[in-house]
Amino acid sequence: MKYAVLGDIHGNLEALNAVLEKAEECGVDKYMCIGDIVGYNANPRECLELVRSLDLEVVTKGNHDEQASQDVKLVGFNPQAAMAIEWTRDQLSEEQRAWLAALPYRQTVGTKVTVVHATLDMPHMWGYIFDKLSAGVCLGYQFTQVCFFGHTHVPLAFEKYGDIVGGKYEEIVFQPGHKYLINVGSVGQPRDGDPRSAFVVYSSEDRKVCLHRLEYDIKATQKKILDAGLPERLAQRLALGR
Ligand code: ZN
Repeated sequence: MKYAVLGDIHGNLEALNAVLEKAEECGVDKYMCIGDIVGYNANPRECLELVRSLDLEVVTKGNHDEQASQDVKLVGFNPQAAMAIEWTRDQLSEEQRAWLAALPYRQTVGTKVTVVHATLDMPHMWGYIFDKLSAGVCLGYQFTQVCFFGHTHVPLAFEKYGDIVGGKYEEIVFQPGHKYLINVGSVGQPRDGDPRSAFVVYSSEDRKVCLHRLEYDIKATQKKILDAGLPERLAQRLALGR
């Protein structure tokens, strides 16, 4: 089975369409989504419906999905993110918000794969994994060989076999007895300095993961953000990949 693993789509329809086209080209059978379908960019409704129309093996909740599905006061978000969440709340229907609210924080696919938005130790606290230390804590709660996650919008992979090693990756072939914690990068708002959209293809037969980076129509996404009255900085950052 071949899966496309998508994360941090953040209402970026142009990026999502580019990724889905590529996934189809790669012969993907099913999809996994690690959350943050909405927030930041101007097409939360459309992205949500598009994700729901896919043959989804699994989908977990991101912090923006959670906030957009609630009415509580926003804490811990920067002003631009908070404004985008308020705006997103108004865009979504009650039914869409209820669907987001019901998503699980983490899910297991068969015996081999776990999916989570932020971390496995406390998924609802939305911690960030950038280094071996935080990766090690998360790996302590990982009972499958592979875990896909996101939240930082930076595609990094950590491998544990005794020690933990980590860094950038393009392709990983899973070795027996090794554990892998893999950030799939962001479809809709990459932050590793590369503005191209990111997602991975996971082949369960080949026991392999490939990271894909794709150009998309950033200008169109930026125009929609500005037309919607969302903060200018949210448009600018897409071209910078920050
Ligand atoms: Zn995110």
